[in-house]
Amino acid sequence: MQLTNRSKVVVKRELTFIEKLYLPAILQGLSITIKHLFRKSATVRYPEVKREIAPVYRGMHVLKRDEKGRENCTACGLCAVACPAEAITMEAAERKKGEEHLYREEKYAAKYEINMLRCIYCGLCEEACPKDAIYLTDRIVPSAYTRGNFVYGKDVLVEGVNPQERVDIGKRKKMYEMTGESTK
Ligand code: SF4
Ligand code: SF4
Repeated sequence: MQLTNRSKVVVKRELTFIEKLYLPAILQGLSITIKHLFRKSATVRYPEVKREIAPVYRGMHVLKRDEKGRENCTACGLCAVACPAEAITMEAAERKKGEEHLYREEKYAAKYEINMLRCIYCGLCEEACPKDAIYLTDRIVPSAYTRGNFVYGKDVLVEGVNPQERVDIGKRKKMYEMTGESTK
């Protein structure tokens, strides 16, 4: 019984003589391919050529240091709680005497990991952080062959101590200020 009048009876049609030759269909297909040869390519030769990305693009994270080169993160866990993808894990440790030049606060992240395969680049970790420690940057997460390679630890996330190794997040911050949104 027909419930709607949308159904159609499909009848298998016999191919005509021309259609049975297949040649017209092949030529038609080839003409489409040749037409595309003269069109502007929709792809770029990445990584040699890079597309311009939006100033507010959210890519790979960075764990920032302060002006004295000390890690800002105090392992409070707020970023991990805010993360909807449960991509962040960390282990806190107490700063020992003599480590004041390494960590800004008395507590620091001995281990800090982000699973980039879980991350949806929402930026909520950045919003939640009270210590200006974590930011998303315009850096693209590189491809890898194994899942394990996408779990980024402090060795990848923490920016370098030297001024030339610092990761610039100014462009994104400025863009947010201009649009009235905020990273905090
Ligand atoms: S950007 Fe979003 S999903 Fe990715 S780690 Fe931060 S809070 Fe989690
Ligand atoms: S990155 Fe920020 S929110 Fe996350 S643990 Fe460190 S200080 Fe806390």
